[in-house]
Amino acid sequence: MIIQTALNEGIKKLKANNIRSSLLDCDILMSEALCKTREYIILNSQNNLKQKNFEFFKYLINERAKGKPISYLTKKKFFWKYEFDINENVLIPRPDTELIVEEILKITKNKKSLNILEVGIGSGCILLSILKENYRYVGTGIDISQKCLNTCKNNISKLKIRNKIKLIKSDVDNFNNGKYDLVISNPPYIKKSDLKYLEKDVIDFEPKLALDGGLDGLSEIRKVINKSSDLIKKNGKLVLEIAFNQKFLVKDLLRKKGFYINKVLKDFGDNDRCIVSTKI
Ligand code: GLN
Repeated sequence: MIIQTALNEGIKKLKANNIRSSLLDCDILMSEALCKTREYIILNSQNNLKQKNFEFFKYLINERAKGKPISYLTKKKFFWKYEFDINENVLIPRPDTELIVEEILKITKNKKSLNILEVGIGSGCILLSILKENYRYVGTGIDISQKCLNTCKNNISKLKIRNKIKLIKSDVDNFNNGKYDLVISNPPYIKKSDLKYLEKDVIDFEPKLALDGGLDGLSEIRKVINKSSDLIKKNGKLVLEIAFNQKFLVKDLLRKKGFYINKVLKDFGDNDRCIVSTKI
């Protein structure tokens, strides 16, 4: 079979399963099946496809047809300036979260050194991206999932920043190590009863541990704020990703714990997505 024929079959199958980006997805999955770039696929679409590559392509298409996100099939996702290793134990890095990296770099650009803590580090995309930007920045990442920490460890090696970061398996409640200039967290913040409204690709495949924010969506955010109040140095900053409808509640929680609200950032969809605050 030639590559183009297999691609056409794949597109048909994805379309029949209501996958919106069927063309692009097929190109990506074919490059995955052949271990070649997408440019190669486009330029060589009339080449013959070996049976074993076709079988692998078919497997990937079937998984995608069930809704499995492309990034879990390729096990990679670009975020900020780097390609991160990911798998089903970690949340897929979101483009909206890059806005947080951008903001943090803006607010810290005059700092000579910085000791950063990330609560719920997952794949490491936020903290690792920031650490790569300045050789004087160091960080600690905590997570309750050892599988997340293992994935993060891979990414640390890939980005060659082993000497700048410590990983610790811990819940934020039981973490008492050190004092930080900056605490970052993108905790699970979806209200339990709203989980069912998430897109199928998300709710069927991404880890609930990284999404489920308890009965009011704020149970993890509350823990992060309470504990950060002890872990942050005076005048240190806390940067939190939040749900589109949590701004007022989270501002309230922050003020009660002695934080000054600097800014609420919007995401690409114009939703409130991040709160920057200072411990006073
Ligand atoms: N932003 C994620 C979503 O849209 C949720 C991430 C989280 O709960 N921290 O599904």
